[in-house]
Amino acid sequence: MKKIVFFCIPAHGHTNPTLGVVRELVSRGHQVWYYSYHAMREKIESAGATFVPCDDYDMEQKLSPKDTARVGKDLSFSIRLLVDTTLALDDKVCADMERLKPDCIVADSMALWGKAVALKLGIPFVSSTTTFAFNQYSAKVMKQSVGTLLNMLLSMPKTAKQVKRLRRKGYPVKSILDIIGNDDNTHTVVYTSPEFQPCSETFSDKYAFVGPSIRPATDRMEKTADKLVYISMGTVNNDLMPFYKNCLCALADTEYQVIMSVGNLVSIEEFGELPENVSVFPHVDQIAVLQQADVFVSHCGMNSVTESLYFSVPLIMLPQTAEQGGVAERVRQLGAGIKLDRSDTASIMDAIKAIFADDAYKRKAAEIALGFRNCSGAKGATDKIMQVCEEHDLL
Ligand code: UDP
Repeated sequence: MKKIVFFCIPAHGHTNPTLGVVRELVSRGHQVWYYSYHAMREKIESAGATFVPCDDYDMEQKLSPKDTARVGKDLSFSIRLLVDTTLALDDKVCADMERLKPDCIVADSMALWGKAVALKLGIPFVSSTTTFAFNQYSAKVMKQSVGTLLNMLLSMPKTAKQVKRLRRKGYPVKSILDIIGNDDNTHTVVYTSPEFQPCSETFSDKYAFVGPSIRPATDRMEKTADKLVYISMGTVNNDLMPFYKNCLCALADTEYQVIMSVGNLVSIEEFGELPENVSVFPHVDQIAVLQQADVFVSHCGMNSVTESLYFSVPLIMLPQTAEQGGVAERVRQLGAGIKLDRSDTASIMDAIKAIFADDAYKRKAAEIALGFRNCSGAKGATDKIMQVCEEHDLL
């Protein structure tokens, strides 16, 4: 029996793909501890892990609204915050790890504290990546100059200060990249297929592209028209009333059935009386909807895109962040969707018509779906973790 410790950030999108792996580890008789946040507690425990709360150490929770807005936008500020959380957790996590003596730490690529403590205490480590894996080649294909970004980061004196803070506490890091980026020597599980990952052939054999784990649908969805258009901008940056109104304007009283999931930040009453073919909800069972949908108008969160393609549904894409832009770019390259330059009524309608007029979009989505379904999934991720434990046992 092995002892495995998971670390993750407080985000469902980063947690969900790991739950199948926890279940698989537990079903093989291993013991799992999961360092996370209260909002995730129930699902982590029901997957069979011992939940360890980190809420009191989450420095992001303690920020003023003004500083919260800087997270993810101001790089040196974001790094400082991650280092603050790592140092706040230091005493507790190091003491816990000395006591538990885990065989392996598995940490989300953004939960820097997991990789940091593995380095500090010499514990075997596996990185868990719920977005695309990055290297100089994949960054180029996704038209994101990560190299430039990282160089900028490294040249910042403020980053050097964060490295010093970590070193003072015994973390053997020479550069912030030691815990942020994964190089070819880091064992890494990536929850997408080698076909969908840009330039997967340029990553070392330490990388396992295990594919997505799609949860089963919990609701049943009734399809009432030949074509079903599903619209959602995800669960985070979804306060986008003007865009929803444009969708409504484009699609009202058409032959299409339209389901729109708008989140909790907009008031559904503001839409007024809805046309018969359109339903608007704060939240839907997206899996149930995608099993019936013919096109998905999406912000291109990695989960939404993966779920859509898994059910062979082509996309109309309106990314809101750089990361979503990278995912959208990949879908565009593979021919499974159309990226919107503008979000006005005519652009939305033209894109929907273009998707329905050309079977190629659906065919390409179906090819990606096949790749996903051929992946090794949670079993493959678990095999990878076991392989890392066994390699360490042989040393
Ligand atoms: N989701 C859902 N119902 C909704 C909207 C979203 O079940 O009405 C789920 C969706 O299936 C996906 C997740 O929420 O798994 C959204 O994750 P994604 O990475 O796409 O975007 P984010 O919300 O993190 O921006």
